[in-house]
Amino acid sequence: MEYCFGVDIGGTTIKMGLFSRADGLLQKWEIPTKKGTDPKPLLGDIAEEMEKCLSQNGIKKEEIAGVGMAAPGPVNEDGLLRGAVNIGWGDVFLGEEAEKIMGISPVFIGNDASFAALGEYTFGAGKDASSLIMITLGTGVGGGVVLNGQILMGKTGTAGEIGHTTINPFETLSCNCGKKGCLEQYASATGMVRMAEKFLKESDKPSTLRQFDKITAKELWDQAKNGDEMALDIAIYVSRLLGMAIANACYIVDPEMIVIGGGVSKAGQFLLEMVQRAYAENVFPHCRDKKFALAKLHNDAGIHGAAAMVFEKR
Ligand SMILES: [Zn+2]
Repeated sequence: MEYCFGVDIGGTTIKMGLFSRADGLLQKWEIPTKKGTDPKPLLGDIAEEMEKCLSQNGIKKEEIAGVGMAAPGPVNEDGLLRGAVNIGWGDVFLGEEAEKIMGISPVFIGNDASFAALGEYTFGAGKDASSLIMITLGTGVGGGVVLNGQILMGKTGTAGEIGHTTINPFETLSCNCGKKGCLEQYASATGMVRMAEKFLKESDKPSTLRQFDKITAKELWDQAKNGDEMALDIAIYVSRLLGMAIANACYIVDPEMIVIGGGVSKAGQFLLEMVQRAYAENVFPHCRDKKFALAKLHNDAGIHGAAAMVFEKR
């Protein structure tokens, strides 16, 4: 059993990868996500793609050690996916459903950000670390914790959800999760844009950001790098919140390193250093020089983590 599939189910596309134990990723591709309340049609699409892939490569089903599947929602330690709002699903034992439809077992499921963290830990930026926290800055703020090769899932699947740690108890607007004052409301791509718009509205200071009809997180960071004072203020503001949340997480987990990924992390070293500085201001002196790194696997972190899960368990 030298092969496995790594699958990462997203809100718009499903990423799939065929992996071998010896050589890692052999082949990867994407299919569109079939939304709806019933996961069976989507699982049927994945099963069909797997069959096609196996016959194209002359691989028998018996040679597949298993499937790892990352899902966009919390997964508890019993394998229950506690809903995936972006797709339309409620609570579902996704692994069991998938095994029936795919005719392959076992199917390991996990939260997408947690699997991305495991992917970076096993194949990417965290290859040499014994433990890490990964934070994904995208449309939302995802998080995953890997300790000694194991994803920390937690009793209810809440472990690692750093994006929903409360950083402002006085916030009046609600987060997507229904709570108020979550890190995600400030430090996701959407949150950063919201902050930028707020800063610009509340001041009449000139800024190159004012030339854009619609500001994006990329423009915010580009303008900050170019030295625009207002953009820099906003970047520092969101970085301080991120650094603070990471510091708080480190008081509980204290991992060897912090990995930052997701679309916003394309702002690179500039963003990383700003967050690291803010982190250092919020921890004990002996904890200050923790390793910070940018993610390496980008969109492929999820399928890599899913595959790592299979090869580690089998
Ligand atoms: Zn939230």
